[in-house]
Amino acid sequence: MNKEVSIQVKAKYVNQYKKGYPLILKDSLSNINHLQDEGVIIKLLDERKHFIAKGYFGKQNKGYGWILSKKENEDLNESFFEKKLSTAFKKREHFFEDRETTAFRVFNGEGDGIGGLIIDYYDGYYVMNWYSKGIYHFKSFVLQALENLVDFKGVYEKKRFDTKGQYIEDDDFVMGQRGNFPILVKENGVQFAVYLNEGAMVGVFLDQREVRKTIRDEYAKNKTVLNLFSYTGAFSVFAAVGGASKTTSVDVANRSKAKTTEQFTINGIDAAKEDIIVEDVFHYFKYAVRKGLQFDMVILDPPSFAKSKKHTFSAAKDYKNLLKDAIAITEDKGIIVASTNCSTFDMRKFKGFIDDAFTESGVRYQLKQEFSLPEDFRTIPEFKEGNYLKVVFIEKLG
Ligand code: SAH
Repeated sequence: MNKEVSIQVKAKYVNQYKKGYPLILKDSLSNINHLQDEGVIIKLLDERKHFIAKGYFGKQNKGYGWILSKKENEDLNESFFEKKLSTAFKKREHFFEDRETTAFRVFNGEGDGIGGLIIDYYDGYYVMNWYSKGIYHFKSFVLQALENLVDFKGVYEKKRFDTKGQYIEDDDFVMGQRGNFPILVKENGVQFAVYLNEGAMVGVFLDQREVRKTIRDEYAKNKTVLNLFSYTGAFSVFAAVGGASKTTSVDVANRSKAKTTEQFTINGIDAAKEDIIVEDVFHYFKYAVRKGLQFDMVILDPPSFAKSKKHTFSAAKDYKNLLKDAIAITEDKGIIVASTNCSTFDMRKFKGFIDDAFTESGVRYQLKQEFSLPEDFRTIPEFKEGNYLKVVFIEKLG
């Protein structure tokens, strides 16, 4: 059984925890001297030493762990973990039954009751993502729960908890049978090649599923589409499948060319007819302006923070200017898809950046549609930061 430590919460934080805030903040704990080994159970007490909630100690960014239960005598044991996983899997039953979509999230951290643990499903393979040493301590419970609850081909893991909270390079295979990679998964009928044992990223970000479908079904036909920060080209593939006259994908990572070519090819699209450019987006803007290039649709999905030799991009500071560059190369009546996964600002602020960018460019616009996380990326109202995705479709009016 895991060791337990009782810790008093500073007065001004007590209410927050009583209302269900799930992240244990370092600053909220009155005495952290007793916290040595990640994985121990923390009991949070109020100023009168009454029980508030309990969770585990695990360092993740500013967090010192996650609350798992508000019941004092609930054991955080194997059956607790199995119950949480079972409830989460039941909520995804219609995903499991959908033959056109075979990759989705089956367990989304605090949104499913266990912060620091994320599990994705790729056509029979489960990938567990551990965000602290603390939660990794419970690995045997999670494996047992998977054994008891589902049939799987194989299980992989990503340990995302080195000193900087980054992925730890390793053989990520855990149990079952090893996959023969790439395995091909489907999303609304479109294929993706995924690699579950090649580092932190597997080849597709599942949270953009609805955005990709919307681009394919409602916007792409006969349009020229520019996909910036394109990674493996998932948006480009959906645009091409939706009848785009031409797609252009731009990403600074060398691997993006081969990976994007592969995604086109497995969907029967001739990659030679699409443009796949390995370049810094900020250079590409200059090139496009010089050449007088204009696109019917421009997709912007930058990382929240990126550092290259010459440039540091921070979504919170620089998104407005990124939009201004995009506006300059979008046709009148064209569409800009502005996306961000930055959790430090909300949709209201994001729309503020959009309004500023268009106003400063002297261009009118209309918001067409907006998206946040899809249903399998469950979130809870008590933890707004967990609802990080913001995507807005904007028409440039001229
Ligand atoms: N839009 C992608 C995911 C983007 S991930 C999708 O839907 O699948 C962010 C990508 O931005 C990474 O592939 C990274 O290589 C790229 N990137 C970061 N800084 C960049 C820059 N300055 N120019 C071009 N690409 C950049």
